Amino acid sequence: MYGKFQKYLQDELSAIKEAGLYKNERNIASPQSAEIKLEDGSVALNFCANNYLGLADNPRLIEAAGKAMKSRGYGMSSVRFICGTQDLHKQLEKAISDFFRTEDTILYASCFDANGGVFEPLLTADDAIISDSLNHASIIDGVRLCKAVRYRYANADMEDLERCLKEAQAQRFRIICTDGVFSMDGNVAPMDKICALAEKYDALVMVDESHSAGVVGKTGRGVAEQFGCYGKIDIFTGTLGKAFGGAVGGFTTGRKEIIDMLRQRSRPYLFSNSIPPMIAAAAIETFKILEESTALHDRQQENVAYFRDKMIAAGFDIKPTQSAICAVMLYDAPLSQKFAAKMAEEGIFVTGFYYPVVPKGQARIRVQLSAAHKKEHLDKAIAAFVKVGRELGVIK
Ligand SMILES: *Cc1c(COP(=O)(O)O)cnc(C)c1O
Repeated sequence: MYGKFQKYLQDELSAIKEAGLYKNERNIASPQSAEIKLEDGSVALNFCANNYLGLADNPRLIEAAGKAMKSRGYGMSSVRFICGTQDLHKQLEKAISDFFRTEDTILYASCFDANGGVFEPLLTADDAIISDSLNHASIIDGVRLCKAVRYRYANADMEDLERCLKEAQAQRFRIICTDGVFSMDGNVAPMDKICALAEKYDALVMVDESHSAGVVGKTGRGVAEQFGCYGKIDIFTGTLGKAFGGAVGGFTTGRKEIIDMLRQRSRPYLFSNSIPPMIAAAAIETFKILEESTALHDRQQENVAYFRDKMIAAGFDIKPTQSAICAVMLYDAPLSQKFAAKMAEEGIFVTGFYYPVVPKGQARIRVQLSAAHKKEHLDKAIAAFVKVGRELGVIK
Protein backbone atom coordinates (compact mmCIF):
# COMPACT_ATOMS: atom_id res chain seq x y z
CA MET A 1 0.00 0.00 0.00
CA TYR A 2 2.66 2.55 1.00
CA GLY A 3 4.16 2.65 -2.51
CA LYS A 4 1.16 4.44 -4.02
CA PHE A 5 0.74 6.72 -1.05
CA GLN A 6 4.48 7.49 -1.03
CA LYS A 7 4.30 8.54 -4.70
CA TYR A 8 1.35 10.78 -3.87
CA LEU A 9 3.24 12.43 -1.00
CA GLN A 10 6.38 12.87 -3.10
CA ASP A 11 4.35 14.60 -5.81
CA GLU A 12 2.63 16.87 -3.32
CA LEU A 13 5.95 17.76 -1.67
CA SER A 14 7.50 18.54 -5.05
CA ALA A 15 4.55 20.79 -5.86
CA ILE A 16 5.05 22.63 -2.54
CA LYS A 17 8.74 23.08 -3.36
CA GLU A 18 8.03 24.26 -6.90
CA ALA A 19 5.58 26.82 -5.59
CA GLY A 20 8.36 28.09 -3.34
CA LEU A 21 6.28 27.28 -0.25
CA TYR A 22 8.47 24.57 1.25
CA LYS A 23 9.47 25.47 4.80
CA ASN A 24 13.06 24.93 5.80
CA GLU A 25 14.12 25.20 9.42
CA ARG A 26 17.12 26.97 10.86
CA ASN A 27 19.11 24.97 13.37
CA ILE A 28 19.96 27.22 16.29
CA ALA A 29 22.65 26.03 18.68
CA SER A 30 22.28 28.67 21.40
CA PRO A 31 19.49 30.01 23.61
CA GLN A 32 16.80 32.02 21.84
CA SER A 33 17.83 35.65 22.00
CA ALA A 34 18.56 38.78 19.96
CA GLU A 35 21.90 37.25 18.97
CA ILE A 36 21.77 33.58 18.09
CA LYS A 37 24.40 31.06 17.15
CA LEU A 38 23.65 28.56 14.43
CA GLU A 39 24.70 24.97 14.15
CA ASP A 40 27.48 25.87 11.68
CA GLY A 41 28.97 28.31 14.21
CA SER A 42 27.81 31.48 12.46
CA VAL A 43 26.07 34.23 14.41
CA ALA A 44 22.92 36.08 13.40
CA LEU A 45 20.66 38.78 14.76
CA ASN A 46 17.18 37.47 15.25
CA PHE A 47 14.27 39.67 14.21
CA CYS A 48 11.71 36.92 13.68
CA ALA A 49 11.06 35.44 17.11
CA ASN A 50 8.02 36.19 19.27
CA ASN A 51 10.41 36.81 22.17
CA TYR A 52 8.88 40.25 22.65
CA LEU A 53 10.10 40.91 26.17
CA GLY A 54 13.40 39.10 25.74
CA LEU A 55 12.53 36.63 28.50
CA ALA A 56 13.41 33.46 26.58
CA ASP A 57 16.90 33.35 28.13
CA ASN A 58 16.18 35.34 31.27
CA PRO A 59 18.34 34.10 34.19
CA ARG A 60 15.52 34.44 36.71
CA LEU A 61 13.23 32.20 34.68
CA ILE A 62 16.00 29.66 34.12
CA GLU A 63 16.72 29.57 37.83
CA ALA A 64 13.03 29.26 38.76
CA ALA A 65 12.60 26.42 36.27
CA GLY A 66 15.72 24.65 37.52
CA LYS A 67 14.71 24.95 41.16
CA ALA A 68 11.22 23.63 40.42
CA MET A 69 12.61 20.74 38.44
CA LYS A 70 14.84 19.78 41.40
CA SER A 71 12.01 20.01 43.93
CA ARG A 72 9.07 18.83 41.81
CA GLY A 73 10.60 16.57 39.21
CA TYR A 74 10.38 16.59 35.46
CA GLY A 75 6.76 16.00 34.59
CA MET A 76 3.32 15.17 35.92
CA SER A 77 2.35 12.09 33.85
CA SER A 78 -1.27 13.01 34.33
CA VAL A 79 -4.01 15.28 33.21
CA ARG A 80 -5.00 17.99 35.66
CA PHE A 81 -8.22 16.44 36.96
CA ILE A 82 -6.82 13.00 37.77
CA CYS A 83 -3.56 13.69 39.59
CA GLY A 84 -1.83 16.36 37.53
CA THR A 85 -2.45 19.52 39.54
CA GLN A 86 0.21 21.07 41.75
CA ASP A 87 0.12 24.19 43.90
CA LEU A 88 2.34 25.70 41.19
CA HIS A 89 -0.42 25.30 38.59
CA LYS A 90 -2.90 27.02 40.87
CA GLN A 91 -0.41 29.81 41.65
CA LEU A 92 0.20 30.38 37.96
CA GLU A 93 -3.53 30.49 37.23
CA LYS A 94 -3.88 33.09 39.98
CA ALA A 95 -0.95 35.13 38.58
CA ILE A 96 -2.53 35.16 35.11
CA SER A 97 -5.93 36.19 36.52
CA ASP A 98 -4.24 39.04 38.41
CA PHE A 99 -2.34 40.18 35.32
CA PHE A 100 -5.47 40.33 33.16
CA ARG A 101 -7.76 41.36 36.07
CA THR A 102 -10.04 38.43 35.46
CA GLU A 103 -11.87 36.05 37.81
CA ASP A 104 -10.25 32.73 36.98
CA THR A 105 -7.82 31.01 34.62
CA ILE A 106 -7.40 27.53 33.14
CA LEU A 107 -4.05 26.31 31.78
CA TYR A 108 -3.50 24.34 28.60
CA ALA A 109 -0.46 22.79 26.94
CA SER A 110 -0.62 25.59 24.36
CA CYS A 111 -2.79 28.45 23.17
CA PHE A 112 -3.58 26.29 20.16
CA ASP A 113 -5.23 23.95 22.67
CA ALA A 114 -6.88 26.81 24.56
CA ASN A 115 -8.52 28.00 21.33
CA GLY A 116 -9.29 24.45 20.26
CA GLY A 117 -11.09 23.82 23.52
CA VAL A 118 -12.92 27.07 24.18
CA PHE A 119 -15.94 27.08 21.86
CA GLU A 120 -17.26 23.53 21.79
CA PRO A 121 -17.89 23.25 25.57
CA LEU A 122 -19.72 26.58 25.74
CA LEU A 123 -21.83 26.86 22.59
CA THR A 124 -24.23 24.68 20.62
CA ALA A 125 -25.93 24.69 17.21
CA ASP A 126 -28.35 27.25 18.67
CA ASP A 127 -25.57 29.83 19.04
CA ALA A 128 -23.38 32.00 16.80
CA ILE A 129 -19.63 32.60 16.55
CA ILE A 130 -18.65 35.81 14.81
CA SER A 131 -15.01 35.65 13.82
CA ASP A 132 -12.54 38.16 12.34
CA SER A 133 -11.35 37.00 8.91
CA LEU A 134 -7.68 37.25 9.96
CA ASN A 135 -7.98 35.26 13.17
CA HIS A 136 -5.26 32.75 13.98
CA ALA A 137 -5.47 29.19 12.63
CA SER A 138 -6.16 27.82 16.11
CA ILE A 139 -9.30 29.97 16.47
CA ILE A 140 -10.45 28.81 13.04
CA ASP A 141 -9.91 25.18 14.07
CA GLY A 142 -11.63 25.74 17.43
CA VAL A 143 -14.63 27.20 15.65
CA ARG A 144 -14.71 24.18 13.34
CA LEU A 145 -14.97 21.85 16.33
CA CYS A 146 -18.10 23.63 17.54
CA LYS A 147 -21.59 23.29 16.06
CA ALA A 148 -22.46 26.97 16.43
CA VAL A 149 -23.48 28.95 13.33
CA ARG A 150 -20.45 30.76 11.87
CA TYR A 151 -20.17 34.35 10.76
CA ARG A 152 -17.02 36.00 9.43
CA TYR A 153 -16.28 39.71 9.18
CA ALA A 154 -13.52 41.51 7.27
CA ASN A 155 -10.44 42.26 9.39
CA ALA A 156 -11.23 44.84 12.08
CA ASP A 157 -14.12 46.12 9.93
CA MET A 158 -16.77 47.35 12.34
CA GLU A 159 -19.46 47.84 9.71
CA ASP A 160 -19.06 44.28 8.60
CA LEU A 161 -19.07 43.08 12.22
CA GLU A 162 -22.32 44.97 12.76
CA ARG A 163 -23.83 43.23 9.73
CA CYS A 164 -22.91 39.85 11.24
CA LEU A 165 -24.31 40.84 14.64
CA LYS A 166 -27.62 41.80 13.06
CA GLU A 167 -27.84 38.50 11.21
CA ALA A 168 -26.82 36.58 14.32
CA GLN A 169 -29.80 37.88 16.26
CA ALA A 170 -31.41 34.70 14.89
CA GLN A 171 -29.29 32.67 17.33
CA ARG A 172 -29.61 32.23 21.11
CA PHE A 173 -26.14 33.43 22.20
CA ARG A 174 -23.53 35.26 20.13
CA ILE A 175 -19.78 35.55 20.65
CA ILE A 176 -17.42 37.88 18.81
CA CYS A 177 -13.90 36.49 18.64
CA THR A 178 -10.77 38.27 17.53
CA ASP A 179 -7.00 38.25 17.77
CA GLY A 180 -5.73 41.13 19.93
CA VAL A 181 -2.89 41.90 17.51
CA PHE A 182 -2.97 40.54 13.96
CA SER A 183 0.35 38.97 13.18
CA MET A 184 0.80 40.09 9.58
CA ASP A 185 0.10 43.85 9.80
CA GLY A 186 0.73 44.28 13.52
CA ASN A 187 -2.56 46.15 13.91
CA VAL A 188 -4.61 45.95 17.11
CA ALA A 189 -8.27 44.90 17.13
CA PRO A 190 -10.40 47.96 17.99
CA MET A 191 -11.65 46.50 21.26
CA ASP A 192 -13.50 49.65 22.40
CA LYS A 193 -15.66 49.54 19.29
CA ILE A 194 -16.02 45.76 19.41
CA CYS A 195 -17.18 45.92 23.04
CA ALA A 196 -19.64 48.72 22.23
CA LEU A 197 -21.15 46.67 19.40
CA ALA A 198 -21.25 43.62 21.66
CA GLU A 199 -23.25 45.59 24.18
CA LYS A 200 -25.61 46.94 21.54
CA TYR A 201 -26.25 43.53 19.98
CA ASP A 202 -26.06 41.41 23.12
CA ALA A 203 -22.93 39.42 22.32
CA LEU A 204 -20.09 37.95 24.33
CA VAL A 205 -16.50 38.96 23.52
CA MET A 206 -13.45 36.73 23.25
CA VAL A 207 -9.93 37.94 22.41
CA ASP A 208 -6.74 36.00 21.78
CA GLU A 209 -3.91 37.95 23.41
CA SER A 210 -1.05 35.82 22.04
CA HIS A 211 0.65 38.68 20.16
CA SER A 212 -0.77 41.52 22.26
CA ALA A 213 -0.21 40.55 25.91
CA GLY A 214 3.05 41.92 27.24
CA VAL A 215 3.16 44.34 24.31
CA VAL A 216 0.09 46.57 23.97
CA GLY A 217 -1.41 48.75 26.66
CA LYS A 218 0.38 51.37 28.72
CA THR A 219 2.07 48.73 30.90
CA GLY A 220 1.77 45.81 28.48
CA ARG A 221 -1.30 44.23 30.01
CA GLY A 222 -2.96 43.78 26.67
CA VAL A 223 -6.01 45.07 24.86
CA ALA A 224 -8.25 45.63 27.90
CA GLU A 225 -5.67 48.04 29.28
CA GLN A 226 -5.09 49.69 25.90
CA PHE A 227 -8.78 50.38 25.27
CA GLY A 228 -9.94 50.71 28.88
CA CYS A 229 -12.39 47.86 28.47
CA TYR A 230 -11.81 45.92 31.66
CA GLY A 231 -14.92 43.97 32.62
CA LYS A 232 -16.25 44.02 29.06
CA ILE A 233 -14.28 41.13 27.62
CA ASP A 234 -15.65 37.78 28.72
CA ILE A 235 -12.86 35.47 27.56
CA PHE A 236 -9.15 35.98 26.93
CA THR A 237 -6.90 33.29 25.54
CA GLY A 238 -3.13 33.57 25.41
CA THR A 239 0.20 31.80 25.22
CA LEU A 240 3.22 31.42 27.47
CA GLY A 241 5.19 30.81 24.27
CA LYS A 242 5.65 34.41 23.11
CA ALA A 243 6.19 37.46 25.35
CA PHE A 244 5.74 35.47 28.57
CA GLY A 245 9.01 33.53 28.44
CA GLY A 246 8.65 31.66 25.20
CA ALA A 247 8.55 28.09 26.53
CA VAL A 248 5.18 26.38 26.11
CA GLY A 249 1.74 26.63 27.58
CA GLY A 250 -1.51 28.41 26.98
CA PHE A 251 -4.40 29.69 29.00
CA THR A 252 -7.97 30.86 28.93
CA THR A 253 -8.86 33.51 31.48
CA GLY A 254 -12.10 35.32 32.15
CA ARG A 255 -15.45 34.93 33.87
CA LYS A 256 -15.61 32.42 36.69
CA GLU A 257 -18.43 30.23 35.38
CA ILE A 258 -16.92 30.08 31.91
CA ILE A 259 -13.59 28.83 33.27
CA ASP A 260 -15.40 26.41 35.55
CA MET A 261 -17.30 24.95 32.59
CA LEU A 262 -14.07 24.62 30.59
CA ARG A 263 -12.53 22.63 33.46
CA GLN A 264 -15.50 20.26 33.23
CA ARG A 265 -15.83 19.95 29.48
CA SER A 266 -12.87 21.29 27.51
CA ARG A 267 -11.34 18.36 25.69
CA PRO A 268 -7.71 19.53 25.34
CA TYR A 269 -7.76 20.16 29.12
CA LEU A 270 -9.40 16.87 30.05
CA PHE A 271 -7.47 14.63 27.68
CA SER A 272 -3.98 16.12 27.50
CA ASN A 273 -1.12 16.22 30.00
CA SER A 274 -0.69 19.08 32.46
CA ILE A 275 2.18 21.51 31.89
CA PRO A 276 5.44 20.54 33.64
CA PRO A 277 6.02 22.07 37.11
CA MET A 278 9.20 23.81 35.92
CA ILE A 279 7.24 25.65 33.24
CA ALA A 280 4.63 26.70 35.78
CA ALA A 281 7.33 27.93 38.17
CA ALA A 282 9.14 29.92 35.48
CA ALA A 283 5.88 31.43 34.29
CA ILE A 284 5.05 32.51 37.85
CA GLU A 285 8.44 34.23 37.91
CA THR A 286 7.59 35.92 34.59
CA PHE A 287 4.52 37.53 36.06
CA LYS A 288 6.56 38.59 39.13
CA ILE A 289 9.06 40.33 36.85
CA LEU A 290 6.26 42.08 34.98
CA GLU A 291 4.66 43.09 38.28
CA GLU A 292 7.89 44.61 39.59
CA SER A 293 8.61 46.91 36.66
CA THR A 294 7.51 47.87 33.17
CA ALA A 295 11.13 48.25 32.01
CA LEU A 296 10.99 45.38 29.50
CA HIS A 297 7.73 46.60 28.01
CA ASP A 298 9.05 50.15 27.81
CA ARG A 299 12.26 49.09 26.08
CA GLN A 300 10.30 46.97 23.63
CA GLN A 301 8.13 49.97 22.75
CA GLU A 302 11.16 52.24 22.38
CA ASN A 303 12.76 49.71 20.05
CA VAL A 304 9.67 49.57 17.82
CA ALA A 305 9.53 53.37 17.60
CA TYR A 306 13.27 53.66 16.90
CA PHE A 307 13.25 50.99 14.20
CA ARG A 308 10.06 52.24 12.56
CA ASP A 309 11.18 55.89 12.44
CA LYS A 310 14.63 55.08 11.04
CA MET A 311 13.16 52.77 8.41
CA ILE A 312 10.62 55.36 7.28
CA ALA A 313 13.38 57.97 7.15
CA ALA A 314 15.39 55.58 4.96
CA GLY A 315 12.48 55.50 2.53
CA PHE A 316 10.84 52.18 3.37
CA ASP A 317 7.10 51.69 3.29
CA ILE A 318 6.11 50.52 6.79
CA LYS A 319 2.59 49.49 7.82
CA PRO A 320 1.40 51.65 10.70
CA THR A 321 2.21 49.20 13.47
CA GLN A 322 0.56 49.28 16.89
CA SER A 323 2.53 46.35 18.28
CA ALA A 324 5.93 44.65 18.21
CA ILE A 325 5.38 43.70 14.58
CA CYS A 326 6.72 45.91 11.80
CA ALA A 327 5.69 45.02 8.26
CA VAL A 328 8.12 46.35 5.65
CA MET A 329 6.04 46.39 2.49
CA LEU A 330 7.59 45.13 -0.76
CA TYR A 331 4.35 44.01 -2.51
CA ASP A 332 6.16 41.62 -4.87
CA ALA A 333 6.36 37.95 -3.76
CA PRO A 334 9.69 36.89 -5.34
CA LEU A 335 11.23 40.17 -4.16
CA SER A 336 10.21 39.42 -0.57
CA GLN A 337 11.99 36.07 -0.72
CA LYS A 338 15.10 37.51 -2.34
CA PHE A 339 15.15 40.32 0.20
CA ALA A 340 14.90 37.97 3.19
CA ALA A 341 17.66 35.73 1.75
CA LYS A 342 19.98 38.72 1.27
CA MET A 343 19.24 39.89 4.80
CA ALA A 344 20.25 36.44 6.07
CA GLU A 345 23.54 36.81 4.19
CA GLU A 346 24.01 40.04 6.16
CA GLY A 347 23.40 38.07 9.35
CA ILE A 348 19.89 39.40 9.96
CA PHE A 349 16.99 36.97 10.28
CA VAL A 350 13.66 38.33 9.09
CA THR A 351 10.83 36.56 7.30
CA GLY A 352 9.37 37.31 3.89
CA PHE A 353 5.63 36.64 3.62
CA TYR A 354 3.49 36.50 0.52
CA TYR A 355 0.23 35.04 -0.76
CA PRO A 356 -1.56 33.03 0.64
CA VAL A 357 -0.25 34.10 4.06
CA VAL A 358 -0.98 37.74 3.15
CA PRO A 359 -3.27 39.02 0.33
CA LYS A 360 -2.00 38.88 -3.28
CA GLY A 361 0.29 41.81 -4.10
CA GLN A 362 0.91 42.50 -0.40
CA ALA A 363 4.23 40.68 0.04
CA ARG A 364 6.37 41.99 2.83
CA ILE A 365 9.19 41.44 5.28
CA ARG A 366 7.96 41.01 8.82
CA VAL A 367 10.24 42.33 11.54
CA GLN A 368 9.57 41.52 15.17
CA LEU A 369 11.12 43.85 17.71
CA SER A 370 12.03 42.70 21.18
CA ALA A 371 13.19 44.18 24.47
CA ALA A 372 16.24 41.95 23.94
CA HIS A 373 17.43 44.07 21.00
CA LYS A 374 20.12 46.58 21.87
CA LYS A 375 20.52 49.79 19.93
CA GLU A 376 23.52 48.36 18.07
CA HIS A 377 21.37 45.40 16.96
CA LEU A 378 18.73 47.75 15.62
CA ASP A 379 21.31 49.89 13.84
CA LYS A 380 22.88 46.83 12.26
CA ALA A 381 19.50 45.61 11.03
CA ILE A 382 18.57 49.02 9.65
CA ALA A 383 21.95 49.30 7.87
CA ALA A 384 21.40 45.88 6.31
CA PHE A 385 17.89 46.87 5.22
CA VAL A 386 19.28 50.00 3.57
CA LYS A 387 22.07 48.08 1.84
CA VAL A 388 19.79 45.31 0.53
CA GLY A 389 17.02 47.82 -0.23
CA ARG A 390 19.39 49.77 -2.48
CA GLU A 391 20.78 46.66 -4.14
CA LEU A 392 17.28 45.49 -5.01
CA GLY A 393 16.02 48.91 -6.00
CA VAL A 394 13.45 49.13 -3.20
CA ILE A 395 14.82 52.45 -1.96
CA LYS A 396 17.07 55.05 -3.54
C1 LIG B 1 1.04 31.92 18.49
C2 LIG B 1 -0.42 32.00 18.55
C3 LIG B 1 -1.19 30.94 19.04
C4 LIG B 1 -0.57 29.61 19.40
O1 LIG B 1 0.08 29.67 20.62
P1 LIG B 1 0.85 28.36 21.12
O2 LIG B 1 0.86 28.51 22.60
O3 LIG B 1 2.19 28.40 20.51
O4 LIG B 1 0.05 27.18 20.69
C5 LIG B 1 -2.54 31.12 19.14
N1 LIG B 1 -3.14 32.27 18.77
C6 LIG B 1 -2.43 33.30 18.27
C7 LIG B 1 -3.14 34.57 17.90
C8 LIG B 1 -1.06 33.20 18.14
O5 LIG B 1 -0.37 34.22 17.64
